[in-house]
Order: sequence, then structure tokens, then C-alpha cells
Amino acid sequence: MSAKKLQSIRGIHDGLPAEVARWRRVEAAAHKVFSTYAFSEVRLPILEPTELFVRSVGEDTDIVSKEMYAFADQGGDHICLRPEGTAGSVRAWLQGGLTRAGAQRWFYMGPMFRRERPQKGRLRQFQQIGVEMFAANGPVEDVEILVMAHAFLSELAIPDLKIELNSLGCRVCRPSYREKLVKYLAERTEHLCETCVERLQKNPMRVLDCKLASCQAELVNAPEMVAHLCDACDSHFTGVQKGLDALKIPYRVNARIVRGLDYYNRTAFEIVSDKLGAQGTVLAGGRYDGLVEALGGPATAAIGFAAGVERLAMLLETLEMAEPDVAVVALGDAVQGYALTQANALRKEGLSVVHCGGGGAKRQFKMADRERARYVVVIGDDEMHSGTVMLKNMATSEQQQLTASEVTKLILTV
Ligand code: ATP
Ligand code: MG
Repeated sequence: MSAKKLQSIRGIHDGLPAEVARWRRVEAAAHKVFSTYAFSEVRLPILEPTELFVRSVGEDTDIVSKEMYAFADQGGDHICLRPEGTAGSVRAWLQGGLTRAGAQRWFYMGPMFRRERPQKGRLRQFQQIGVEMFAANGPVEDVEILVMAHAFLSELAIPDLKIELNSLGCRVCRPSYREKLVKYLAERTEHLCETCVERLQKNPMRVLDCKLASCQAELVNAPEMVAHLCDACDSHFTGVQKGLDALKIPYRVNARIVRGLDYYNRTAFEIVSDKLGAQGTVLAGGRYDGLVEALGGPATAAIGFAAGVERLAMLLETLEMAEPDVAVVALGDAVQGYALTQANALRKEGLSVVHCGGGGAKRQFKMADRERARYVVVIGDDEMHSGTVMLKNMATSEQQQLTASEVTKLILTV
């Protein structure tokens, strides 16, 4: 009788070495670029009270109504795995008493959880790199955030990304626009998908970004928020576009960009790749001026974005496996101690080194091959007695007897 094989949960993947190498590259680019904009890293809880997302993301959103991993713990507290990072950031910012402190610019990276239908680029546990800027009135801050997002993706050298920009209006201009939109959609319900008919009741602006072509076809003449902005929102939106123009950052105004979360207003944006099919959005964000107040803080304008690490990783072309610089082959038990010392001497100088484990020469050379080391260091009695190693360049088969420090000098200057 064979036991049933244990598997990870559907839509939840392991980060194996090749994958993690790509994630690290994405993370390194974020650290590098965000620090030049004076953003500081925060590490926030993965478990949060369910109430936090009900009050911020909104009860009628897909995320809260269908996708949260929420449960009562052994003590009866209602908690959940965070589906996104903004609500927790605001909670932490308020709880930490930072509303008057200096550091108003945060970034974070870590896993988020949504029980969606798993597809390529759509997972149930995925990683986001997020950014939040508090007390950011804009439009200069909107421009800075957009430019930073652009710089982050440029650092990763991902080609053919497009910035799509929209304004979602505000409390003043959105309600009357919403009415116009609902009226337009209500006349077309028989052509909309079931989900959109439901959205029409609860969250009509979400219909605008339905991924179905049949729904999109019905939206061709739908009223657009950008044509119904109040004066304040209109001048804000113009300011954002002027800033991007001044920096020669290409973008397109796309009236279909809305955010899935309730708390967004004014600037909304996505950065999209056409190489990932329906899951093409690699980064999305916008302004959420009402959220801090909604969570019990002082009225505070804020803006942020989150990028999907797995989706970005899929766009990175080169596979960065850790290939060692040097594989050490030790010929005979007597030289084993010396070989271990030499391996460490090389590592101390910054080389990556694997030890082929001793035993037969043939087996060790095979391992060196499999590891794809650029150099093999062979150590026998001769080398031990002269305090040297035999360095073999695997590309050219050239061999040289050298000391460990000569080896590092040679490899590091190639
Ligand atoms: P989508 O429209 O693709 O569902 P979203 O509007 O739900 O995205 P956000 O909540 O704004 O996305 O999250 C920001 C980014 O996080 C997305 O642009 C995407 O790159 C990534 N992301 C969101 N959900 C998932 C998921 N289930 N799996 C992988 N990445 C995701
Ligand atoms: Mg989604």
C-alpha cells in the first residue's frame, strides 16, 4: 500500500533555487532604486485581524467577499492571511504613532494570499513588493511615485512595459459619474457576464476592467471618469501628466483602469506587459486619500503601488543559478584537511567554492562538471607539500600551479 503523495496546496508554489534567484534580482532592484528615493523598508505581519480588510479594502470587493483566507483561531479571534499590504501599512503607521514622524515613505516585500482561480501568473500565495507614501498631497508625489515605479522596472531591464494612467475622481465628482455609468450599464445587462451584473449592483466601476472581451465590447461608448472630473481633480490629473511629460516618461491615459479596492481616488495606474496574457499587469497602484481616516487616523493623503514578484520574475530572461567559481578536487585522504583549508581561503577572498567530497578522481571531476564550475582546483601530495593548488580553467583546459592568493587574484581579475 502506498501512501498518498503529499503536495503543496493548489495555487501555492515552492520557491526552488532557479526561481528564488530571479526573485532576489527583483528584490535587489527594488532595494537599490527605492533607497535613492529615500524610502525605508518595513516588515509587517502576515496575520491581521479580518476586520482590517473589511473596513479598508471593502466588503463588496472580490478580495474580501470571496478570496480571503479568514478563520477564527483557537481563541475565537477572527484573523486572516493578508491579501494585500496597504491596509496593514496604514494600521502600522497609525499604531506606531508615526503620523508626525519623519519617515513617511515605506516599502515592503512579502507574501500575500488570495483564494483566486489559479492560472499562469495568478497564484493563491504570491509575493508583492509594495510602496506607500503618506502625507503626499500631489501631484508632485504622484509623479515621483510613477517615476520610481518606472525606474524600478527599468533597473530590471524588462522590455515593452506600458504605463496606463487614469483618474478615479473623488467624493465630489465620482457619485454623479457613477450614476451615469450605472445607467449606461443597466441598459446592457443582457450582454454582460454574470460577475459584471453582480458588480453593477455593488461596485459598478469594476465592470470597466472586466477581463472578458464580450464585456469590453459593451463598454466602447461607456462614460469615462476623466471626462467628468471636478475642477480640483482635473487640475490634479493635468499636473500628473505634465510632470510625466517633463520627464519624458511615456504613458497612455486609459479610462478602463480602476482599482479592485474601494479606497482609491484620483490617480490610478498600472504597468502592463503584453507578454503575460490576461495576467499582464506587473505593477498597480494609486492614490488612497480616504483610507487613513477610514481606519481612525487623521485625514492624510497617500499614494502607493504594489508589484507582483512572480509576474516580474517570469519576464526576466536569464536564469541566474548560483554556479560556483571553483570546484575543489582532493586526490587522496591525506590531502583532505589541506584541501578544506584551501577551499576556505578562496571563499574568504570572495570566491564561491564547492568541495567535490573526496573519493575517486573520476567521480569528483564529474561533480565539478555538473556544478558547471568555471575552474577546478586539483590538490594532490605535490600541491600540499609546496603549499599550492593546481588550477584548471574548464573553458580552455589550461593548467597552472599557483598559491590560493594567486588563484583569487587571477579569477577576480578575469
Ligand atoms: P489583477 O487585475 O491581475 O487581478 P489586481 O488588481 O488584483 O490584479 P493588485 O491587488 O493591485 O492586483 O496587486 C498588485 C499586483 O500584484 C498585480 O499587478 C499583480 O502583479 C500582483 N498580483 C495580484 N494578484 C496576484 C495573484 N493572485 N498572483 C500573482 N500575482 C498577483
Ligand atoms: Mg485580482
